[in-house]
Amino acid sequence: MTIPFLDLQAMHRELEEQIDEAWSKVSSSAGFIGGEFVERFEAQWAEYCGVPHCVGVSSGTAALELCLSALQIGPGSEVIVPANTFVATAAAVVRAGARPVFIDVDPSTLLVTATGVEDAITSRTEAVIVVHLYGQPADMDAINQVATAAGIAVIEDAAQAHGATWNGKRTGSLSLAGCFSFYPGKNLGAFGDAGAVVSHDPALIDRIRCMSNHGRPKGHPHLHEMIGSTNRLDALQAAILLAKLEKLDAWNAERRRAARQYEKVLAGHPVEIVSTAARARSSHHLMVIQAPRRDELRQELAADGIATGIHYPIPCHRQQAFRTNGIPSLPVAERAADRILSLPMFPHLTEAQIAHVGNAIERTCSRREALLGLPS
Ligand SMILES: *Cc1c(COP(=O)(O)O)cnc(C)c1O
Repeated sequence: MTIPFLDLQAMHRELEEQIDEAWSKVSSSAGFIGGEFVERFEAQWAEYCGVPHCVGVSSGTAALELCLSALQIGPGSEVIVPANTFVATAAAVVRAGARPVFIDVDPSTLLVTATGVEDAITSRTEAVIVVHLYGQPADMDAINQVATAAGIAVIEDAAQAHGATWNGKRTGSLSLAGCFSFYPGKNLGAFGDAGAVVSHDPALIDRIRCMSNHGRPKGHPHLHEMIGSTNRLDALQAAILLAKLEKLDAWNAERRRAARQYEKVLAGHPVEIVSTAARARSSHHLMVIQAPRRDELRQELAADGIATGIHYPIPCHRQQAFRTNGIPSLPVAERAADRILSLPMFPHLTEAQIAHVGNAIERTCSRREALLGLPS
């Protein structure tokens, strides 16, 4: 049995007709930039997230960068970011002209905490980007409280958390602005790069829309209020996203079913599942465990036909690109980077496939115990 890390084709097969129809509608309308599909997707994505406003953009990275620039967070400012995230979170800060300040995370959730944020605040801090890593929302109540007291903005990087909730509220609605990626492998994925920003603040969304469209205010194609960029959401991607949004909740429910089965089959083995807080409902973007001798385990699983990933093997503060800042010591993120392993996770993962992964992990662990004469 071979088990892929992610099976996008199975998702596509469920929606083949709707997606073909979407493509042909856009191509026959010949409206490739802006227009009806983009507007409909923006309205539906805002509604889904439980916020009044949304602007579609070209990627998750663009969403973060535009959001910071629209808030005038740039040179001279510090933005707090977790060390263990996809590099785009921190790169967006640098591209906006500000300085990322990396912080450590909670050892069991691997997420930023309110205390971590509080300890990193200086007179230059303008914002914190909270990453709902792996799909599990961070403690937004506590983080918002600390941020409000310090007068700094909170931005959510919800690129892995489409449909996840904290206290029953969807990610993206829990702060000043929620940034999403619709990269094909995310829970809601386009057929290329795409992203969005959602917010309760209409002026912020207007500013981002203007910046992403050559500095043009909405409805004024020949006015350029500022120097902007070309970071719009394509109509073709919007049409695909509209079709796939219909399935998001059902697919997230299938991911949850898979996660519950993983919890059962992994119970009693010396691997630790990255935990989710009681008030959080994960989107289960990734199924991440922490295991001793991770690389060995990964090789054993590969030999059993099981594809795995590491998200992420090098924490951002140790990446070459950020070395100019000096390298802080962030022991939790550093230790986790050597222990984390992402198991196959996608809506169409079957019970038999999960059982196969569980058996492979069990075999590897008991072989180690036998070799060492002690629990691994
Ligand atoms: C995917 C991702 C991004 C970047 O999104 P792109 O659409 O690839 O630019 C940012 N942050 C996190 C946490 C991500 O997983």
